[in-house]
Formats: sequence, C-alpha cells, structure tokens
Amino acid sequence: MQYGYMGSYVSINLTKEEVSFQSFSDEVLRKYIGGTGLGTKILFDETDGNTDPLGPENLLIFNAGPLVGTKAPNFGRYHVVTKSPLTGKYAEANSGGKFGPALRKAGYDGIIITGKAKRPVYLSLDNGKVELSSADHLWGKDTYEVGDWMKENHGKSSVCCCIGPAGERLSKIAGIMNDGRDGRAAARCGVGAVMGSKNLKAIVAKGNMEVPLFSKDEFNATSKEWSVKISQSVGNDILGLYGSSCGLEGTEVLGDIPIKNWGAGNFEGAKKISGPVMAETILTKRYYCGQCVIGCGRVVEVKEGKYLLEEGAGPEYETLGVFGANLLIDDLSAIATFNELCNRYGLDTISAGCTISFAIEAFEKGLLTKEQLGGLELHWGDPDCVIELIHKIAKREDFGFWLAEGSKIASEKLGGIAPQLAVHVRGLEFPAHDPRGANGLALQYITSPRGACHLSSFTHDFEYGGGGPMLNFPENAFDRFGYEGKGAFVSQYQDLMALFDSLTGCKFVLFGFEGKPLEKIKMFLDLATGWNISEEELMETGERIMNLKHLYNLKCGWTAEEAKLPYKMFGITRGTGGAADNIPNAGLMLTQYNKFRGRDVHGIPSGDTLRRLGLEKEGLGLI
Ligand code: SF4
Repeated sequence: MQYGYMGSYVSINLTKEEVSFQSFSDEVLRKYIGGTGLGTKILFDETDGNTDPLGPENLLIFNAGPLVGTKAPNFGRYHVVTKSPLTGKYAEANSGGKFGPALRKAGYDGIIITGKAKRPVYLSLDNGKVELSSADHLWGKDTYEVGDWMKENHGKSSVCCCIGPAGERLSKIAGIMNDGRDGRAAARCGVGAVMGSKNLKAIVAKGNMEVPLFSKDEFNATSKEWSVKISQSVGNDILGLYGSSCGLEGTEVLGDIPIKNWGAGNFEGAKKISGPVMAETILTKRYYCGQCVIGCGRVVEVKEGKYLLEEGAGPEYETLGVFGANLLIDDLSAIATFNELCNRYGLDTISAGCTISFAIEAFEKGLLTKEQLGGLELHWGDPDCVIELIHKIAKREDFGFWLAEGSKIASEKLGGIAPQLAVHVRGLEFPAHDPRGANGLALQYITSPRGACHLSSFTHDFEYGGGGPMLNFPENAFDRFGYEGKGAFVSQYQDLMALFDSLTGCKFVLFGFEGKPLEKIKMFLDLATGWNISEEELMETGERIMNLKHLYNLKCGWTAEEAKLPYKMFGITRGTGGAADNIPNAGLMLTQYNKFRGRDVHGIPSGDTLRRLGLEKEGLGLI
C-alpha cells in the first residue's frame, strides 16, 4: 500500500487498443511526487528529440497529485504533460474544475496515452473499470456539448475533459477543456492538438473510491481547520470576491497588462473590465473548483446589449488582459463572448488573444490583407471582427489556417517585419503580464521550461507587492526594476512552484498559508503519505523536477539562443504608464540564474548539480 496514491496509472496504446496498468516505486514517487514532476519523468523516459509532437509516438499524460480527491483545500487540479507541437519542447498545462478529483475517485493517479486510434474514441474510467468507446457522434461537437452528452450518458457525477473542433483540426493553440459549461481549461502549449492527433475526443471519469491516507483522521481534521482559515482569509478577500481580475485596474497602472499588442502604456478602458465592475454587472455567482475553498472562478450572464450570453463560465484575468486591453476592447460582455467561443472551440484564450492582437497589428501595418482574411477587416477596439476571427481560427479558414498555428508560425508565414510583432518565447504566447513591468518576469519567461509562463515562478506577484515573502529573500530582490538577487529569487521560486505543480495544487492557496508554504505542504504530505519529509528535501525535489524539465528540453535540441525575449520586449519602450521606459536586461539576470543553478553559459548543468539531484542517468552525455 502506498499511502496518498491510488497505486495505478491507466496506460493506453490507442493504435493497438491495449489497456494496461502501471505503478511506480516509493522511491520514484518520493523523487517526483505526481503532477508535472512524475509526468516529466515519464515523458523524459519514453520520448526524445525525434518524437513528433503530433505523431502517435508522443505521450499525452494526465496526472493528479497525492492530495487530489481528498479534503485538502485547493489541491484538486490535474496536469497534462506532453511534447508541445507549438514549441517542439516540454509542455505542461493544468486545470482546476472537478476532473482531477474524479480521476482519483475512479481509481487512478493518472493516465498515460500513446498511439493513435483509427476512428474517434473516448475513454471512460468508472470505479476501476476502463473502456474505450466510439466518439464518431461527438466529433465536431464543441466542448460544452460534449460535457452535456457525458452527463446524460455517464451520470451527473461524471466529469469529462475533452477537445473541441480546434483540437480536432490540430490547432497548435488548442487546449483541453473540462467540466463542460463550467469552462475549465488545461490549455497551454497546444496540448489539445496532441489529443486531437490521437483521435481521442474525451475522457470521462467517475467513482467513489477513497484515497488511502496514512493518518486519515488527523489529515481530515487538519484539512477542515485549514479550509476554514483559507476560506476566511483568501476567500473573503478580493480574490474570492472579485476573482483573478480583482487587481486588473492596478495592473494597468503598474504597466503589467498588455495594451495594443504590447505597444502602449495606458488603457483608459481597464476601469470598465475589472473584477469589481464584473461583480456589479454580469456576474451571477462565484465558481469553486473541486476541493476549493476560495472560489475565484466567475460565472456570468449577459441579458441585454449586443452580446447576449446564457449563464456560464466568465473570463479570468488573463483572458480580460489579452482579449480586452491588448485589443483595446473595454466591453465586458464582448470579452465574455470571446471567452465562451474559445471555450467551446477548445482554444487557449491566452494564445488566441495574443495571436489576434498580432493579427490586428499586422493588418494595420499592411502585412496581412483583407483578401487573405476572406474579406474581413481587423481594427483595434472592434469586438465584431474579433468574433469573426475566432471562428476563422477555430475552423482554419482563410489566413485563420495559419493563425491557428500560433503567432510565431503565422508571423513567419507573413514574413518581412511581421515576426517582430509576435510576442512569445519559443512559440508560446505571453500571458497578460508584461516583463517590462517587472524584471523577474523577463527572467521567468526565458527560463520557464514551457516557454513564456508567469506561473513557473510566480515572482511577479511579489515584485508588484501582492504577496508576502514565502521564502527568505532580502527586500531588494522584490524591487521590480532592480537586478540584485534576481537569479536566485526566480530559480528558488521556480523550484517551489515545480514542487507545487507536482502536488497539483491551486497556487492561490499559497496566499492562505501564512507565509510558510513549505511547512504546510510538509504537513499535508506527511499526513497523507507518512513520509516525514523535510522542508529541505521538498525544495530539492522541486529543484530536481525543474532540472529534469530542462534536461528534456536539452534532449529536444534546446540551445541558449532560445533563452531570449521577443523583439518588442527589448526593442521598444512604451513611453507612458507605470513602466514607461524599462527594458529588462535579460542577459544580466540569465548569467546570475545560470550561476545559481550550477549551469554554464550555454545552460548546461554541471555534473555536480546533476549528481546532487540524482539525475546522473538522465544527464548522461552532459557529464
Ligand atoms: S481559487 Fe480559483 S482557480 Fe483556484 S481552485 Fe479555487 S476557483 Fe479554482
């Protein structure tokens, strides 16, 4: 018995229609935990630089952590790990909702998928029973329709994740959606295209199996105590009340939110699309993911005006940033409509919004024409053209075919100066945080294993003064325009977040851990697994996982050349706003970072580093 684990991974070869079961030793579980940690280990061992991300040989791994399916507050997420068709390297995407807990209650810690089905199929997991069924009748349906069908046919307690038409058409900015109309998304890096390439439309899970806990009574009592504390602190604070866009007006003032395809410093309309305005206008209720006691999710309904919407998932901060300020759109109902369209089609709202802002600027500069868009004209601040363009991208119509490949490939297709307008790292579009507003963000984006990712270290929140120190750092490391200590600051937080993503927790719970995340993680993990793990070992586990993700990228041909910001971030300043003139010196911070991580100037980890982390085998050839 492995406490904290269901002890079984479903392993499916879709080509052969073979189902088998896999388990991992205590040693491997303790070294990689679950979520992205164990997911990376599995991906690393079975794929490499020659793996075609959209070929049958790629793996698509769904993974929950050891606290998922228990009563531990806010530990109900799941992660998808694969090789990305968007970046050609390591990919991870995670989602809340209720799929993670359903997967564990169905009897499994995760699912490892390889091969390609001959016809569209879906997978059902039900209290230890695994079945592959035809999904011919679901192919072409949007993600809300699939969610409804699953509830009708597999019961109200079932939860499904699926792709929409964008994933079926192998859009490299397609995500995997779960919980039907609740619109939760594991969307980054084109993971939806990988699922589409396997002809796998959906996975549905349900069950009532219990996670075996080392100290069940104490675990449940501790979970209850912290659920109350977190709900009363974070849940009753602005995050719970106004959602992830609670501080949107402030991010405009700071120079954090992207404006006019990352080209402007101010957007008056930010006042109209913030969380408090949403709460006064289109919000109908708060949404809680599985095990969540904060409830930052938004449910909205639009009953009047041009963009009517039935009650459903509302836009989060990132979507409001890239589809609002970045397109100069200040109409909440319109942005809620874009959000629902992307959800239904199964598009990553971050990549879609950024790709559209790129397209509008390319159109404005005459690099993309009305003829290429089938007669459509693109203008800043025009919701109607955005709606049309979302349809074209999801259906791959006209130049939408290329925009469905993401902004990097689309810009290269247009040529000329178009690549200078695309804002991404290694193909992954920026989330709605401008690194010219906080230097640590720049370092985070160029060193994150999946490309531009604000969640890999989460340090911008501290740089903007949004959270208290959780690890011990001198105050000047938080100076958003400073450089001192940034390398150590970003890398240590990356290790903490890699640990957290292996536990598949919601990062917002960190605000409720009274500034001592490692102490609380240890507390829950020990009670669940019986490990008696030290805080030092927890941080080393995060460091090992971060390094393994990097080793995977190296195996896939990553070079230090790729650790760079796109042109707009070093080529232009915005001239106005809260970060008018800052251009982060990414090279300076990267040097600090490499030194702190024990890597050379080419980003190659030293033998000492790899040996200390027990990664000699994985680093073979480098040491
Ligand atoms: S805080 Fe928000 S994102 Fe996190 S688990 Fe709760 S509803 Fe989901």
